[in-house]
Amino acid sequence: MSRFEYAPAPESRAIVDIKSSYGLYINGQFVEATDGKPFKTISPSSEEVLADVSEAGPADVDKAVKAARKAFEKVWGPMAGRDRAKYLFRIARLIQERSRELAVLESLDNGKPIRESRDVDIPLVAAHFFYYAGWADKLEYAGAGDDPQPWGVAGQVIPWNFPMLMLAWKIAPALAAGNTVVLKPAETTPLTALAFAEICQQADLPPGVVNIVTGAGRTGQALVEHPDVNKVAFTGSTAVGRAIAKSVAGSDKAVTLELGGKAANIVFEDAPIDQTIEGIVNGIFFNQGHVCCAGSRLLVQESVYDEVLARLKRRMGTLRVGDPLDKNTDIGAINSAAQLAKIRELSQVGEDEGAERWSPECELPPQGYWFPPTVFTGVSQAHRIAREEIFGPVLSVLTFRTPQEAVEKANNTPFGLSAGIWTDKGSRILWMANQLRAGVVWANTFNRFDPTSPFGGYKESGYGREGGRHGLEAYLAH
Ligand code: NDP
Repeated sequence: MSRFEYAPAPESRAIVDIKSSYGLYINGQFVEATDGKPFKTISPSSEEVLADVSEAGPADVDKAVKAARKAFEKVWGPMAGRDRAKYLFRIARLIQERSRELAVLESLDNGKPIRESRDVDIPLVAAHFFYYAGWADKLEYAGAGDDPQPWGVAGQVIPWNFPMLMLAWKIAPALAAGNTVVLKPAETTPLTALAFAEICQQADLPPGVVNIVTGAGRTGQALVEHPDVNKVAFTGSTAVGRAIAKSVAGSDKAVTLELGGKAANIVFEDAPIDQTIEGIVNGIFFNQGHVCCAGSRLLVQESVYDEVLARLKRRMGTLRVGDPLDKNTDIGAINSAAQLAKIRELSQVGEDEGAERWSPECELPPQGYWFPPTVFTGVSQAHRIAREEIFGPVLSVLTFRTPQEAVEKANNTPFGLSAGIWTDKGSRILWMANQLRAGVVWANTFNRFDPTSPFGGYKESGYGREGGRHGLEAYLAH
């Protein structure tokens, strides 16, 4: 079968103006770090250095927390909700106005396809600010009592897979509820957070309400352990989440943790097959599989296994891997050399443990970090690739015969973030959704996000909810 050939369709990067170096954003100003060395952020698709970024040490974090405390006490805390809303609406509109620039910047720094940053990430970022702006003067309806109060200063640490979207999930509800924030973006993806700092300046947000401290794990640790932080919000690996939970235990800090996942995407024999194949592809290859709620374990009913696998492989053969800025690209670059090494290692373990590995023929660019879309069959529940988060474009396929068996296999994981069900029967969807120990269950779709909908996990996927009214409640003291 011949395939259409596409001409290159690169999005221009002329719209972004990346500075050669960035300071920290503290108290409304970009300032030099006092006790850290600068580090480089690179484009994972080309390994090109994009900028030098400052590393915030404990003294810088302290300065940022002090600025946030002052802004909380003097300006943001006492401000009427309707006035806070005006700032949030202004920020949302500025994000929309600068959306193309932000999408290009995100794809350059993170490696994700422009199709996703342009059509998913940045529109959702603006939607979160619009949504929470609407809540700022209605907090008494958030479910936290008649006169809910903000915690104070929120220390927020986010990962590299959805840099700007995770920033929005954290900052929008925190500000709407009347908290001020110090946020640390991931070391490999700081640029959109720094662009957001400029947006705060453009919006005339009072100094100190938002502070951005760049750096690596050490900076994150200094932030979450700072004694004057009242609320900690973290998204990232279960290992670091556990360390954070330990470090704040015994203090009066409020904590929410959004950690890893190993979601089951469950396909019944009566599922609409074409939509299901698209859902499987979207479930695991969206954002190179760097998605905490990715459908990384495919559970297929035995009677349709051969057909699903054949169709899935055919569809995988049409996925285009390459330049994130090309509008035809489906799968971009792996975010970092370290993440690529982890994906390679776990895939090797899959082979060593006896699973069968398959990828379509696919030419990978010579520079940068790349991994082809991959599927493992013959996977058993004991295999590491069925248990551990690979966080890459790698799917493990298992089978089942009865709905009960599907539930048992789906729940046989230390995680509990999300799950997907593909079937024609509404009653089965409802029955399954009740049995699955997962914070989010999608039915006949996957990886759908909306600011009005709460998101979060059970078990080792963390605790607390983000998004919707529940996400707001997390930023209000009871
Ligand atoms: P981490 O959990 O290390 O990173 C998440 C954030 O926490 C980053 O900003 C990181 O900084 C920061 N951080 C690291 N150590 C500490 C600490 N001790 N205290 C406070 N903050 C800290 O994830 P990795 O990037 O190392 O990825 C490892 C694995 O985690 C992935 O392979 C994937 O399986 C999983 N992961 C899950 C995510 C999810 O959404 N559930 C998101 C990202 C990763 P810095 O990055 O600068 O080191």
